[in-house]
Amino acid sequence: MKRPLLNANPEDFTAWVVEQGHPAYHARQVLRWVFERRAEQFDGMSDVPKGLRERLEAEWLVFETRVSYRHIAPDGTDKLLLECADGRKVECVLMAEEERRTICISTQVGCGMGCVFCASGLKGVERNLTRGELLEQVLRLRNLLPPHERLTNVVIMGMGESLANLDNLIAALDRTCSPEGLGLGQRRVTISTVGLPDKMRKLAELDRQYHLAVSLHAPTEALRNELVPINEKVGLSAVVEAADAYFQKTGRQVTFEYVLLREVNDRHEDALALSNLLAARKAHVNLIPYNPVAGVPFERPSPLAVRRFAETVRSRGVSVSVRKTKGREIDAACGQLRRRLEEPAAARSTV
Ligand code: SAH
Repeated sequence: MKRPLLNANPEDFTAWVVEQGHPAYHARQVLRWVFERRAEQFDGMSDVPKGLRERLEAEWLVFETRVSYRHIAPDGTDKLLLECADGRKVECVLMAEEERRTICISTQVGCGMGCVFCASGLKGVERNLTRGELLEQVLRLRNLLPPHERLTNVVIMGMGESLANLDNLIAALDRTCSPEGLGLGQRRVTISTVGLPDKMRKLAELDRQYHLAVSLHAPTEALRNELVPINEKVGLSAVVEAADAYFQKTGRQVTFEYVLLREVNDRHEDALALSNLLAARKAHVNLIPYNPVAGVPFERPSPLAVRRFAETVRSRGVSVSVRKTKGREIDAACGQLRRRLEEPAAARSTV
């Protein structure tokens, strides 16, 4: 079996190059071809000795996934469905807006959190993605950009619960942000979590500058238990306290995500309860108008209802923004593309 290059530590890869009888700097050269010069094969690495290139071909893979489907929406949102070596599929997206080139990547195949409105968790979690599979999403999407363009932002908002795969995620992000990787600023990375307090505290201890977004979705215990079932084990106040701890430790303000579901959590009283919960905190609320999922009984509120909700929260002193929906035509919300392609009948009405 060939080994995936992106899943190896640079030290281990360098040791392998030396074992083959070549100087260590060739390892750095190979990695630079992949990270900087967008090589997807060993073949074209013209300054790497031919003999080493042949050994690399025989034993390593630059990319271990296959692009099983690609779709570009009219607004330019570019989505890839990648098939892993074991046949499992994950989705990732590239979005362009003004100067920003943002990618959204997945951390797991499926998701174990079971949020009732989300397509990713409908069939539970199958496995964590490896650090190589995480990095590969980053590089494959980056390689779609024209040569003079660079990635500016990374959001961990695809399939899966990010913090359930914390070690691999941090390894992949640290590499992405290192000078030998893509040199992206840590502050340009947003990790979105359902709100696992222990993992949030562990992330805070790592003392990185990654931005943390917490999927709150409800201002009261009862409603959150309904929408985000893991909340029954965790509790709303533990989530909010862990977010406070993250801010205290890292100095980075936390964003609370709030998916707006028509007549479920978009009422005036919900906006008031949300403001009460967050007004005393230095937190930001990002409202996400629901992206409908076929067979799931929730609807998106009207634009007017979204505006009113935002106004109520803002007027009570909480910083708030409304997320623009991109790529609706290509099922850009978490887990929707995979579902449509794997279960066309179940998801037909989303096409
Ligand atoms: N597990 C992480 C990442 C999930 S995806 C988390 O829970 O944060 C990022 C955000 O999109 C989450 O807030 C998630 O609840 C939300 N989301 C999921 N399905 C959605 C949909 N159909 N429409 C709008 N937002 C959705």
